[in-house]
Amino acid sequence: MKIVLLGPPGAGKGTQAKSISNRYSIPHISTGDIFRKNISENTPLGIEARKYMDNGQLVPDEVTINMVKDRLQQEDCKNGYLLDGFPRTVHQAEALQAFLESRDEQLDTALLIEVPMNFILERMTGRRVCPSCGASYHIKFNPTKNDGKCDVCGSDIIQRKDDTEETVKERLDVYERQTQPLIDFYKERNMLSVVDGTKAINEVFESICKILGSGR
Ligand code: ADP
Ligand code: AMP
Repeated sequence: MKIVLLGPPGAGKGTQAKSISNRYSIPHISTGDIFRKNISENTPLGIEARKYMDNGQLVPDEVTINMVKDRLQQEDCKNGYLLDGFPRTVHQAEALQAFLESRDEQLDTALLIEVPMNFILERMTGRRVCPSCGASYHIKFNPTKNDGKCDVCGSDIIQRKDDTEETVKERLDVYERQTQPLIDFYKERNMLSVVDGTKAINEVFESICKILGSGR
């Protein structure tokens, strides 16, 4: 099964991706997580990506596309994958289509987690994440069970540097200009499915499972 998750920053893509990845046994590939790992390891890719991420801008297409193509050719992707945060521009979506076609493959669906903009600021400024395993929490909607420690791996959770109000506003602007057009891109190709992301986390997951079915 090959799935793209779409939706504005803060829609709940990362939250749902963890559950989808477990249920359907496919790797969760988050371009944001890959960039953050490279930043923490101070690699050349991380140094390049940081210049854009700290300001809420997108990392240039060619850097991102090459990184994703490399990742999709790894062994664990041979039975499918779940892309979270990629594609984010029409150029990235076209590159993904070309990559799939060159391998005689296709996406099962582009799944849009639909959340109106007025929900997003509270979700993102209240987000806390685990820097070790990438789990995502919310101070109000999805708090950790054990004060400030990740439920999955026990590390101290943190607030992302780009989740401050000012950077969130920039990211939403970037989303509207550069990523929202992908909704039409996939709709025109009859590949779009939509879930209501304003519901509780477990209800959103149930809607997603109905769309994805028993898996292939
Ligand atoms: P994305 O990966 O799309 O940027 P996240 O999965 O990190 O979004 O979710 C953003 C924030 O909103 C997190 O703090 C998360 O705990 C919270 N969240 C996710 N889904 C829901 C939901 N259905 N209802 C309320 N809060 C949610
Ligand atoms: P995310 O974790 O998905 O919210 O992504 C965090 C940041 O990483 C974004 O604001 C971008 O700066 C960068 N990023 C992640 N995915 C992409 C992508 N597909 N294209 C360009 N930049 C990206």
